[in-house]
Amino acid sequence: MIIVDLPDETATVALARRISRLAQRGDIIALKGDLGSGKTAFARAFIRARGDRNEEVPSPTFTLVQIYEFPPAAIWHFDLYRLRSCEEAWELGIEEAFYEGISLIEWPERLGPFLPERRLEINLSFGALSDARQAMLDPGGGWRARLAAITADA
Ligand code: ADP
Ligand code: MG
Repeated sequence: MIIVDLPDETATVALARRISRLAQRGDIIALKGDLGSGKTAFARAFIRARGDRNEEVPSPTFTLVQIYEFPPAAIWHFDLYRLRSCEEAWELGIEEAFYEGISLIEWPERLGPFLPERRLEINLSFGALSDARQAMLDPGGGWRARLAAITADA
């Protein structure tokens, strides 16, 4: 488990950018944390770093998924809070996302046992001051070695 303190939103954006540079096709990043902890803020910075920095990145609260067709791998941004069943995730194309794209998943708990083990889990929590957050990174798959590069000087 790697802990990164995020004193303000700029720090969250910086962490998202660093992780976005390490991401590859087939990666799954599970974004956990309470409402307002910064899951969408993280995803937005990640998406902008791999595409256009002015890209509009709405929260997929109601659409459940937004797809960004950036070469070499599309980014699938999910918010599964309103997911009614795991079958619905299949209808959204989550299997294609897992194998062909880069998946950013808010409320990944909703997938239950269908959430792949080979994921980077990022758990965001609130700090003492209003803009402070903390990220707990739990690197599954090949993430541990990849993250060493960014945590060494973090
Ligand atoms: P979630 O998707 O987890 O519900 P959002 O990313 O939509 O949360 O909202 C996070 C809110 O907190 C935004 O209004 C953002 O500007 C604010 N914020 C303040 N400090 C931070 C921080 N350190 N990291 C991320 N967001 C922050
Ligand atoms: Mg959100």
